Formats: sequence, C-alpha cells, structure tokens
Amino acid sequence: MGVIRIFAKGLAVTFRQMFRPRVTTSYPQEKRVKPQRFHGRHVLNRHPDGMEKCIGCELCAGVCPARCIYVRGADNPPEEPVSPGERYGFIYEINMLRCIFCGLCVEACPTEAITMTQLFEMSVTERDDAIYTRDELLVNPDGSPNHPQPDGPLIDLEELTIADGWMRATASSGRAAYEGIPGWTPSAGVGLRPPEQGQAPGPDQDAGAE
Ligand code: SF4
Ligand code: SF4
Repeated sequence: MGVIRIFAKGLAVTFRQMFRPRVTTSYPQEKRVKPQRFHGRHVLNRHPDGMEKCIGCELCAGVCPARCIYVRGADNPPEEPVSPGERYGFIYEINMLRCIFCGLCVEACPTEAITMTQLFEMSVTERDDAIYTRDELLVNPDGSPNHPQPDGPLIDLEELTIADGWMRATASSGRAAYEGIPGWTPSAGVGLRPPEQGQAPGPDQDAGAE
C-alpha cells in the first residue's frame, strides 16, 4: 500500500509540472534575454571621429584582480596620432580564461575605452585562442566590432554593440544630482548609447542620438 502511495505521489508531481511554464530554452536556437548589466566580452571603443579611446595608461591592468590584462602604452606619432592623448595602447591583450568578468577594468578606465558587452559565446579549442588581442578587441573605425570567430553558429555580433547597463546609468554614482544626465561619451558606430532602462536621457540629448 505504501509503495503505491509513493508512486502516486510521484506521478502527481510529474503531472503538475507538465502544465507549468518551462524555465529552460532550446539554447542555442533560442537565447534568453540577458539582464542589462550582464558582463560579457570586452570591446575597445573609438571616438566618433575614429580615434582610439585608449590612452595606454594601464589603469585597467593595474586594477584587474585576475591579472589577465596586458597593456603597453606608447607615445602617439605626432604626424598621425592614434588617440587624442599623448599616448595610446599599442599592445592590448586580455586572457579570457583568467578573466572573472568583474568589470573593474571598465570602472577604472578614465576614457571609457574598455566596456563590456552582452556576448559570452567564446569557446575555443586552443588555449592560446582565448587570449584576445588588440586587433580583436578594438572596434573598426566605423564602430563595427571584431571577433576571432565571427561566423560561429552562436555569434551575434550585434551583442558586441550593447554596453553594460552600469556604464549607461545616468546616475551611476548614486548621486541624485546625476539623475538624467548621461555620464558617458558617444562612441563610433553606436553614437551615444541609450541609457539603462528606467534611466532618463539628459535634458538636451535624445537616447541613441549620434
Ligand atoms: S573584467 Fe575583471 S577580471 Fe576581467 S579583465 Fe576586467 S578587471 Fe580583469
Ligand atoms: S583601456 Fe582605459 S584604463 Fe586601460 S589602458 Fe586604455 S585608457 Fe587606460
């Protein structure tokens, strides 16, 4: 008798679950909407005129708790400057196997050169391929992103244009005086990124305007 009761209880649980909404999706065909502050792969941004935002200050490498950023700065060539500053990052590498996607590099960067995106599909078969170089991290002069496996079945390069909501927050420091005032600069390709949902654009700026 006891066995039948346990069996019936188990069947009742199964039956109930059959009519509840599924929480899983058929990944990778169907992807779940990610939170606004999702921390995915980094990109190195450019100013709207195409100049690189990175000034090679190495602050990101200094703050990184995983020690996975290698950056070296060099003086800008006077005839053909790469960035608006005195220096630019001529070597830039991130070892994605060591990165813990904490976002501290983004917080430390004084020029918003490095930001995080929504792309996280980065599987590789060789360890060396997990070291993203400057060429892969830096967006093109028109703002379009680069990726080591751009034609992979899971890769949606659009995800590389979505910046972490934290850096798009209009009151990122939590101070009321900053409410509604965008605290970030426009970037090539994406212009002035729309503010984090629930945050208002500044008085003179439309969200997403170039
Ligand atoms: S997200 Fe964190 S661990 Fe990854 S590179 Fe930036 S600071 Fe380092
Ligand atoms: S990404 Fe930012 S913090 Fe890192 S070296 Fe370039 S300017 Fe400095």
